[in-house]
Amino acid sequence: MNIHEYQAKELLKEYNVPTVPGFLALDSESAVAAAKEIGGDVWVVKAQIHAGGRGKGGGVKVVKSLEEVKSISEEILGMNLVTHQTGPKGQLVRKVYIEKGTNILDELYLSIVVDRANSRVNFIASTEGGMDIEEVAENTPEKILTVDINPSSGIEEKDVISISKALGLDDDLLMKSGALLKNLYKAFVETDMSLLEINPLVLTGDRDLVCLDAKVNFDDNALFRHPQISELRDKSQEDPRESRAADRGLSYVGLEGNIGCIVNGAGLAMATMDTIKLAGGEPANFLDIGGGATPERVAKAFRLVMSDQNVQAVLVNIFAGINRCDWVAMGVVQALKEVTVEVPVVIRLAGTNVEEGQRILAQSGLPIIRANTLMEAAERVVVAWQNDLKQNTNIRIAQ
Ligand code: ADP
Ligand code: MG
Repeated sequence: MNIHEYQAKELLKEYNVPTVPGFLALDSESAVAAAKEIGGDVWVVKAQIHAGGRGKGGGVKVVKSLEEVKSISEEILGMNLVTHQTGPKGQLVRKVYIEKGTNILDELYLSIVVDRANSRVNFIASTEGGMDIEEVAENTPEKILTVDINPSSGIEEKDVISISKALGLDDDLLMKSGALLKNLYKAFVETDMSLLEINPLVLTGDRDLVCLDAKVNFDDNALFRHPQISELRDKSQEDPRESRAADRGLSYVGLEGNIGCIVNGAGLAMATMDTIKLAGGEPANFLDIGGGATPERVAKAFRLVMSDQNVQAVLVNIFAGINRCDWVAMGVVQALKEVTVEVPVVIRLAGTNVEEGQRILAQSGLPIIRANTLMEAAERVVVAWQNDLKQNTNIRIAQ
């Protein structure tokens, strides 16, 4: 789960991580009130969307008068902000964060991630802050240092020293960076984050270290331990298809193609999408119904996939180990009876209770296309989709 910059900063403040004074505003009047409350004569108006690269896209502006706070807030609120992370469709801005303008001496990069390769929490540090770290990694990888943390000891002095060096900090800042790194690590571990990115971490004119931006991802599987964090979820920032799926406990990723996929297991879902592409089609989604799916769950998955207007054919690919093919078949039949499905549906079942599953499908009398192997299923769904498309086009032309 992602949260907004202002929420991340609120959370970090609880861990004594230095940020600059700021307030959230939903309209330009409260933006001005926020600027007055903060004081000073330089502020920054920052669009709150779940994507980075806002500065480049025109969503972060430095302003030097209250009039400007008002006019720039008006400009940013309601704008469709396009950044390299939002995709071409962009994201509507509904909130701005008004922050004290900071005297920046240097912009640095610091993040914490879980590295699945070494099963540890890793700090990533670089002197090249404020820009895309992907670009730095591509062009000057020697400017990035990764330090993995021993989980039993937590962050140690030697780690603080290497990270601070990688950030290009002088020794007089070691105390400050030590406290900052320890507090960030504590926040990361205690709240089950999967990513905490501070870009930029800045060195101010007063030689303080301050987090000017904060991007946080939480591990969805641990959210049940943090009800207060779960409340920070902002559904307006999510793909509506994905929010609906998350509400139903399904793992779903919306894609651009038109063949809907219902699969059990993430690995099999990936293989299914690859095979669809190999057969000349484009998947509309990634949907993992998980192990032990009940007929109700399968029916939910089916309805979810069908609610995507782009879906013009559906492929159900189940390799049942923990799952049962008969339950999956019952779910599909149930869904097909409730939802009007006007697109071709191809089903491939294998594994536990496959004969029973096939029997249920056959006896349902529903126009389901069956397949035995994954390749066969992918080819059939692509052919069925193309034929269906041709027929519909002909009808439209005939009319
Ligand atoms: P994004 O990464 O989405 O572009 P940031 O919060 O990193 O958004 O802001 C972009 C840039 O704007 C920063 O690299 C920094 O140069 C500047 N900036 C952001 N917040 C402030 C602030 N409070 N004071 C001064 N400059 C800021
Ligand atoms: Mg940033």
